[in-house]
Amino acid sequence: MTLLHPAPTGFAGTMLRPGDDGYEQARRVWNGAIDRRPAFVARCRSTTDVAAMVRFGVRHGLPIAVRGGGHSIPGLSVCEGGLVIDLSPMKAIAVDPVRRRADVGPGVLWAEFDRAAQEHGLAVPGGEISDTGVAGLTLGGGVGWLSRAYGLACDSLVAAEVVTADGSVLHVDEQDDPELLWGLRGGGGNFGVVTRFTFRLYPVPVPMYGGMLLHPIERGGEALRAFLDLGADAPDELGLNAAIITAPPAPFVPPELQGRPVVALAAGYVGPPAEGEAAVRPLRQFAPPAVDLLGPMPYTALQSIVDEAAPPGLPAYVRSEWLGPLDDAAIDTLLDRAAGMTSPLSQVLVRIMGGAVGRVAPDATAFRYREAAAMLTLAAVWTDPADQGEEHRAWTRRSWEALRPWSAGGGYVNHLCGEGPGRVREAYGERTWARLVALKRRLDPGNVFHLNQNVPPEG
Ligand SMILES: Cc1cc2nc3c(=O)[nH]c(=O)nc-3n(C[C@H](O)[C@H](O)[C@H](O)COP(=O)(O)OP(=O)(O)OC[C@H]3O[C@@H](n4cnc5c(N)ncnc54)[C@H](O)[C@@H]3O)c2cc1C
Repeated sequence: MTLLHPAPTGFAGTMLRPGDDGYEQARRVWNGAIDRRPAFVARCRSTTDVAAMVRFGVRHGLPIAVRGGGHSIPGLSVCEGGLVIDLSPMKAIAVDPVRRRADVGPGVLWAEFDRAAQEHGLAVPGGEISDTGVAGLTLGGGVGWLSRAYGLACDSLVAAEVVTADGSVLHVDEQDDPELLWGLRGGGGNFGVVTRFTFRLYPVPVPMYGGMLLHPIERGGEALRAFLDLGADAPDELGLNAAIITAPPAPFVPPELQGRPVVALAAGYVGPPAEGEAAVRPLRQFAPPAVDLLGPMPYTALQSIVDEAAPPGLPAYVRSEWLGPLDDAAIDTLLDRAAGMTSPLSQVLVRIMGGAVGRVAPDATAFRYREAAAMLTLAAVWTDPADQGEEHRAWTRRSWEALRPWSAGGGYVNHLCGEGPGRVREAYGERTWARLVALKRRLDPGNVFHLNQNVPPEG
């Protein structure tokens, strides 16, 4: 097909095609294993641009991918030969500290939003890597340091502006289409392109208390036991992660530990630093950590302490699972699987869930698994672009299988990595799935928005 005039009426953004300046950069996403060449990348500046491009894509029968922060692990925000509706120029942020509300554009990254909200001592629970997009993370759920205190990112979403498959622009809130608001809280990009997110904001003191400890792998069992015991009984203010990683060659890591496996215990306490220090004491008490980076710090700093562990542009593969309570056999399995990690940037990550996440009613949002005790993320990241990654993917899959006995039932929709439609359905569960399918039939019966963790209209 030849499209002679690619800029449709009403579109005032920038259209990039293969060979144009900026095209190569615009087609790249976080996961360096994804190498797709869209026919058009439409860099949108406004809701009008987005609506024009949706109509354009539909009229020409183009597959449409929607890009926010570009962190989709399976690269769902870029397509081969179709149209990318690139929202990254839409960076508006308006914080109302009195009403504790924020309007956020769909191209905003968490670092940008956190900075603006923290100027007023406020924040929304967001992801833990600062260059992840607000849009995709929120639409799939959104787990971060503040989640035990204030819930998921999607729980804070109170209104949205959505461009639907026929190019209409909808305003959505609890009064105006509450069912669509329900679907946007975890149902992903299935129902349209969200062009504005309105969030409820929460107080987050500056500084709060947080950071990371490293324990050598020889004490890995004790470290994970202390972490899980603390997690089982932790105050809501305390967010907790444990990761088995390879210690980086960073100045804060003693030379004898660099390049060796370690258990990183990370925490973020939403409250006065002295309370935070007391809350994390068990993580230090069983043995002195080899590295201690816990202390008072601003939330914006906590939000980027692990950025270097997930650099953009490297090939990656991820498996995740919501977990129930973890016993000693689970700890042994985590350590055993970590011992076989196939690259220095790979990791086994366990996040403690519960708190405010678990107190939201199961049918209040499209997000499932609120009762999970923890979330497992197995991430393989490798550096050689020529490496097709079979060995790394195999490690990830085998590790996931070994840990399935502790599953709470399925995976995190934002971490699914091309595991097939059955896993997407499992991530929602049958009741939520049926409701999502009904919503999809109403809003996108032709499945225009299928390049996502798809809920097809036929169910
Ligand atoms: C390094 C890294 C760290 C992460 N850390 C966390 C974490 O701490 N917590 C967590 O919960 N998740 C985390 N994730 C997962 C993350 O939530 C998802 O990858 C999320 O989809 C990323 O959103 P994005 O906007 O950056 O991605 P994109 O790739 O731009 O989009 C992801 C999906 O959302 C759709 N989408 C994006 N914007 C819109 C929109 N405005 N309207 C409709 N659909 C849209 C896209 O079409 C695509 O299907 C992480 C991922 C990575 C790669």
